[in-house]
Amino acid sequence: MTFSELGLNKNIQKAITDLGFENPTPIQQESIPYLLENKNDLIALAQTGTGKTAAFGLPVLNKIDVERKLPQAIILCPTRELCLQIAKDMETYAKYTKGLKITAVYGGASIMPQIKSLKSGTQIVVGTPGRVIDLINRKSLKLQDIEFVVLDEADEMLNMGFKDDLDTILAETPSEKQTLLFSATMPKEVMRISKNYMQNPKTIEVASRNEGAANIEHHYYMVNARDRYKALRRICDVNPDIYGIVFCRTRRETAEVADKLMQDGYSADAIHGELSQAQRDHVMGRFRKRKLQLLVATDVAARGIDINELSHVINYNLPDDDEIYVHRSGRTGRAGNKGTSIIIAHSREGRKLKSIERMIKRDLTLMKVPNGDEICQIQLMKLVDKVVTTEVNHQIDKYLPSIEEKLSHLDKEALIKHFVSAEFNRFLSFYKNAPDLNVAGSNNRDRNERSGGRNERSGGRNERSGGRNERSGGRNERSGGERTGHAEAGYTRFFINLGAEKDLQAHNLIGLINEYTRNRNIPVGKIDIMRKFSFFEAPNDFETDVLSGLADAVWNGNRVNVEVSQAPGVKSSRGGGNRGGSGRSYSGNGGEKRSNSGGGRDRQGGRSSTASSSRRESSAGGRTNGGSSSSFRGRFNAAAKKTKRD
Ligand code: AMP
Repeated sequence: MTFSELGLNKNIQKAITDLGFENPTPIQQESIPYLLENKNDLIALAQTGTGKTAAFGLPVLNKIDVERKLPQAIILCPTRELCLQIAKDMETYAKYTKGLKITAVYGGASIMPQIKSLKSGTQIVVGTPGRVIDLINRKSLKLQDIEFVVLDEADEMLNMGFKDDLDTILAETPSEKQTLLFSATMPKEVMRISKNYMQNPKTIEVASRNEGAANIEHHYYMVNARDRYKALRRICDVNPDIYGIVFCRTRRETAEVADKLMQDGYSADAIHGELSQAQRDHVMGRFRKRKLQLLVATDVAARGIDINELSHVINYNLPDDDEIYVHRSGRTGRAGNKGTSIIIAHSREGRKLKSIERMIKRDLTLMKVPNGDEICQIQLMKLVDKVVTTEVNHQIDKYLPSIEEKLSHLDKEALIKHFVSAEFNRFLSFYKNAPDLNVAGSNNRDRNERSGGRNERSGGRNERSGGRNERSGGRNERSGGERTGHAEAGYTRFFINLGAEKDLQAHNLIGLINEYTRNRNIPVGKIDIMRKFSFFEAPNDFETDVLSGLADAVWNGNRVNVEVSQAPGVKSSRGGGNRGGSGRSYSGNGGEKRSNSGGGRDRQGGRSSTASSSRRESSAGGRTNGGSSSSFRGRFNAAAKKTKRD
């Protein structure tokens, strides 16, 4: 079937052609002609990735009367991300439909521009329930002329506690209207909504685009529950170019796993319901730009993330509902890419694995948690690859004669050994004698066992990934490289004479800045907590405020000294940069270990002093994207720095 057979008007068809959509997806084939011809309500069981937005968006658009400048359709969805995504998609479909206006309304953003946009005669409103109610209460949004109500991801809206809000909104709409309910699952609460608010709905159900898709491999590792995190680390280490989501069950677990990963030097951050919208946007932005390799998320928070290039989905803990597993795994293997869905299972989850197999109609493949040797081999090859592909920077030419002189006693073989060891020894020692994490007897489900080390992405190289250096640098951010580095453009990097030795953590530092500058709105940037001292960044405009505010500060009985940190001349990759102001220099690796790298505070939002946000502040991804200049030693230091062995 082609789009021209669906009955959509020419302007919409033209927009679809521009988008390059060739054929309607199964849900579009069912819903579009039906909605164009009928005024009946519709329940569609479909998840993200099936083309559901166009399935309701195109017929709704087709039926809007552009001459009437008032809201005729309201699309409700659970998250701001999804709201923006839907509005953007609708704008694209409507690009040739003259006189049509779409307004997205969602919380966590100023309400005034939204009110203004509503007043300008918008016909389609896309909104999250809380903000919609707010606008109704302010009389800025009137629903009496609504002809179409779309409840998108209805199950998630109810999961997120929008039940009462939905009731209130639906009660505001006229009884004569068409209600379209899209949901991935049909729990009781969704049934209740459909019973209470829908009349003789037609139900359509389509298989998920990715359900049991051939391009997704389903792997599981069997470990003791207490070894989950160690197994996760090894899975990440054996897939150095991983770009994926780690699914956890609770917000708390999400925050904990992300914090641990960050502390261990991985390029990770968390996204869960406790974050402010601005914080979520910040994390998501970095993940989208691949400045983060791993997003640790709850199912709800991960809704609306539509990224086609994820290499892996990791189930750190399995969901109760097998269907959720299908949704999770369907986030990888998209758009013709290959993907791997990984389950870190423990020995009592055999039954659960079986029921997942029934659900996806595929076998799960037991993988062996890689041992230290396998990981080291892959990481070593990655290092060698990096050496080969690194572009030589001729700024080093002037140092070469003295370097050559120092190395003149080493032949090529010895030189290679020295360089590789310099970068790699700590990583090797971290994994030396690392225990086998596989649960004895994990072959009970005796099939298809494969070694995690011998992964098809051998050498950990992911063919699809551009910017390998960037991503591989992901874990380098904790290297000494940033210590005296330059601040980001527009930001000043400050030195402070307190560090982990005095129990300073990123959130303490932010608290200190808040308190002494009497300004809670300084968007503190990166924070690097070292043992004896620390660095933080703030916008240049606040330089004087920070310096004068903290001039007489005292923290935990310690006099605070803050200075502008400058790294004149060469950007040192091993620290040792000279902080211009005082002329003192700080040795880079001289025994300093980063105890916690926080920062990455949201630069858009203000600061909150709640416990949850402080926790976030202390852990939210510090430096990401070591870039091509980042060093392997940093990540291996980070990997090896823990005294406790894996
Ligand atoms: P959705 O399920 O609405 O989140 O859509 C998933 C992705 O599929 C989006 O990136 C859409 O732009 C894309 N898409 C939707 N319909 C089609 C189609 N008929 N052909 C190709 N891509 C589509």
